[in-house]
Amino acid sequence: MIKSPLLEKMTGYIGGRWTDNAEGNTFDVYNPATGKVIAQVPLMPEQDILAAVAAGKSALKLTSPYPIETRRKWLEDIRDTLKANREEVGRILCMEHGKPLQEAQGEVDYAAGFFDYCSKHIQALDAHTIPEKPKDCTWTVHYRPVGVAGLITPWNFPIGMIAKKLSAALAAGCPSVIKPASETPLTMIALFSLMDKHTDIPDGMVNLVMGKASVIGKVLCQSPDVPMLSFTGSTEVGRKLIIDTAEQVKKLALELGGNAPFIVFDDADLDAAADNLIANKFRGGGQTCVCANRIFVHEKVADVFGQKLAERVNRMTVGDGINGDVDLGPLINQAGFDKVKRHLEDALEKGAKLVAGKEPGELSGGLFFPPTVVHGVNRDMLCYQEETFGPLVPMALFRTEEEVIEAGNDTEFGLASYVFTADAERAQRVAAGLRFGHCGWNTGTGPTPEAPFGGMKASGIGREGGLEGLFEFVEAQTVPRGF
Ligand code: NAP
Repeated sequence: MIKSPLLEKMTGYIGGRWTDNAEGNTFDVYNPATGKVIAQVPLMPEQDILAAVAAGKSALKLTSPYPIETRRKWLEDIRDTLKANREEVGRILCMEHGKPLQEAQGEVDYAAGFFDYCSKHIQALDAHTIPEKPKDCTWTVHYRPVGVAGLITPWNFPIGMIAKKLSAALAAGCPSVIKPASETPLTMIALFSLMDKHTDIPDGMVNLVMGKASVIGKVLCQSPDVPMLSFTGSTEVGRKLIIDTAEQVKKLALELGGNAPFIVFDDADLDAAADNLIANKFRGGGQTCVCANRIFVHEKVADVFGQKLAERVNRMTVGDGINGDVDLGPLINQAGFDKVKRHLEDALEKGAKLVAGKEPGELSGGLFFPPTVVHGVNRDMLCYQEETFGPLVPMALFRTEEEVIEAGNDTEFGLASYVFTADAERAQRVAAGLRFGHCGWNTGTGPTPEAPFGGMKASGIGREGGLEGLFEFVEAQTVPRGF
């Protein structure tokens, strides 16, 4: 069992108190690197979730809102305590997620960055009076908190994803009811432990619930006291939330799945493109929404580029991330492993060639999937159509700019995309043509706290990060004054 000073309480947190769940049931949390149970956390029943919503409602201040300076202090305190505890939070994250320790600790820094950004820009949420005086009135725009927000996060960034939501919710003055993914609740408990000890956030402003997604989802979708849901996860669940909240017309912020094209033109710096692809693709074991999922390489350079990838992939080490020098950890669970294997088998059966990695029949060793490169992928293959969410690099050929823009857009998703070319005008044309919320030019980098990030099409609604993200949890209220 995991031991940590940040995990002394292994329960939900409601109204400023660690809460024993009403029925006493628990569920297991595993370390995917060892397959061992490392903790048991509460399976909270409906009445606990309702209590969390009620606590949030009691913390919402509309007529006497929390001053901006107070909210700024909450954000600064969370930032500082995360920075001070990055090693321990990262260790917990590594053990429940499996990503390499240094990467896990880097995710804690990334999370602290969102609280930092919101603390520095919170003034943008102050009311302002417009310079014009239409209709003989003085017009003031206020940014009101939406109300109690349900924040639902996935397992692939156990601290990064909540940081994006919680920083903006607290900046707006919105109380929240937070549900972590069932695979990774421990990092969230650690965050609550830090907020409990090192901040003055009022009781009820932050509430933690864990348990069955269907039970928690039902309360958050049906309660009239929760006017907003911010969800990061699969498009499948995102669609369900749209339907389940339609009756009440809730405000939704949805960060959903991706199917990122990574385009390499024949004039690109191929070594830089290969280095960026490796860093992008294998982060989090290939289990990130911004991971390149379809690699389109110009036919003139495809063989050379494939060799460059193979050289890099063959140098990578796979193992338990807690042991230091590991590039790639395990996949999150058996279903995740089986999906990557199915995509590899399907691609090879339909004619793709293995450039690096193992044949599906040679795979062994728990949830560790070797970094794998295949060449000759086409749109009939599963790895082209679906988000693989694992360390499989599928390469396809292209000949013209028009053809590759069309191929890149040949998906219902529109989250991240990348283009590598030395031609600036071409880069601008391709970025404008790709219907993706993020388009890296000569970089495989994903989001940052300072800039908006989010999806087009079935990849979501809304933005996190940047000023756009700061405004996600407020509603503009216009007050024209007559005399
Ligand atoms: P998921 O299965 O959709 O789960 C995400 C969260 O939703 C979990 O906390 C899950 O709880 C919860 N959930 C499931 N069903 C629910 C329901 N009916 N009502 C309310 N909550 C429900 O996704 P995942 O497998 O954890 O994450 C991977 C997906 O997230 C990928 O598609 C990836 O692309 C996407 N993602 C997108 C972004 C982005 O920024 N756009 C970032 C990261 C990940 P349980 O864990 O208890 O099932």
